[in-house]
Amino acid sequence: MTQDDTNSDLRTGKPNGILPALDGVDWPVFEAGWVWMVGGGPGDPGLLTLHALNALQQADIIIYDALVDKALLSWAKPDTVIEYAGKRGGKPSPKQRDISLRLIELAQVGKRVLRLKGGDPFVFGRGGEEAQTLVQAGIKLRVIPGISAGIGGLAYAGIPVTHRDVNQSVTFLSGHDRTGLMPSALDWDALSKGSQVIVMYMAIKHMPDICEKLIAAGRDPHEPVAIVNNATRDDMQVLETTLVKAHEDITRSGIGAPAIVCIGRVALMRQCLDWMGQIQGVPPRNLDPLDVRSESETG
Ligand code: SAH
Repeated sequence: MTQDDTNSDLRTGKPNGILPALDGVDWPVFEAGWVWMVGGGPGDPGLLTLHALNALQQADIIIYDALVDKALLSWAKPDTVIEYAGKRGGKPSPKQRDISLRLIELAQVGKRVLRLKGGDPFVFGRGGEEAQTLVQAGIKLRVIPGISAGIGGLAYAGIPVTHRDVNQSVTFLSGHDRTGLMPSALDWDALSKGSQVIVMYMAIKHMPDICEKLIAAGRDPHEPVAIVNNATRDDMQVLETTLVKAHEDITRSGIGAPAIVCIGRVALMRQCLDWMGQIQGVPPRNLDPLDVRSESETG
C-alpha cells in the first residue's frame, strides 16, 4: 500500500492521521493458556494502547464488557471468537463468578483468552476480583491498563483532572456499591472536607442524595459540577451545573448513564479548554475561567 491509500478515510474522504511504524519494540507473545486482562479505554477506539492492540491481534477468544466500543472487536483476527459478558450497572452481579469460571475454563483448554474491559480494568471494573480468581486457579495472567473514563473522559470534555490553581489531590469514587445502593462505607463529611476534586463513576442515579450529603457536610452549594455522558464517543454530552442545581439540571437535560461526574473548580476549565468544541469552530467562552492568570503568566 502507498501512503495515499492509507491516508484518507474511505467514508468521509478526509485525511487520516498517520501511525508510525511499530517495530523496535519486543511485543509480548500471547501464549496458549494465558488470560490477558485488557483495558479498552473509555470509548474512542484511538485511545486503546498498543499493548491492547497487540493482544487483540493474537487472541483466540475475546470476552468483553458492556462499555467496550465494538470497533475494537473488529481489530481482532478474523477467526477470533467474540463473547459478551457485560453486566448492567446498579444490579447485583451474580454472574461475576460465572465470568471468572469461563475465563479459567477457556485458559485450561489452551485458549489465548483476552478479557476486554472498559476504561482501565483495575478501576471500578471488578478487574481485581477477576484477576485474583485467575491467579488462585493457577492461570497465567498479564494485565494491560487502559485510559480510565474518570481521567481521559474528562479530558475530552476539556476538564483537566488536576490544575495547579485548584487541587493537589483527586478522589475517585463509585456512586453505588455492589448492592446498587449509595456506598454506605463512604464518609461524606470527610469527603466534603478533604477531597479537593471528586470524580465519580456510576453516580448519576444517586446524584440528588450525593449532592445533598456533600452540601450538608459543608461543601459550597455553588461549587461547579460537570457531568460527561458517553465521554470520548461521537455522542458525548456534557452538562455544566453546580451541586445545588445538579438534580434539577439532570432531570431537565435528561442526561443519563454512562457518565462521569466531576465536582470541583477544575470543571470551570471547560470554558477555556473545550477543545472538541473548538475543533467544531466554537470559540472558547472564557480564557481565564479560574480568574487567576494573566496571559503573560500562562504564556
Ligand atoms: N473501568 C472503567 C470503569 C467501569 S465502571 C474505567 O476505568 O473507566 C462503569 C462506569 O464508568 C460507568 O457507569 C461510568 O460512570 C464510567 N464510564 C465508563 N465509560 C464511560 C464513558 N465513555 N463516558 C462516561 N462515563 C463512563
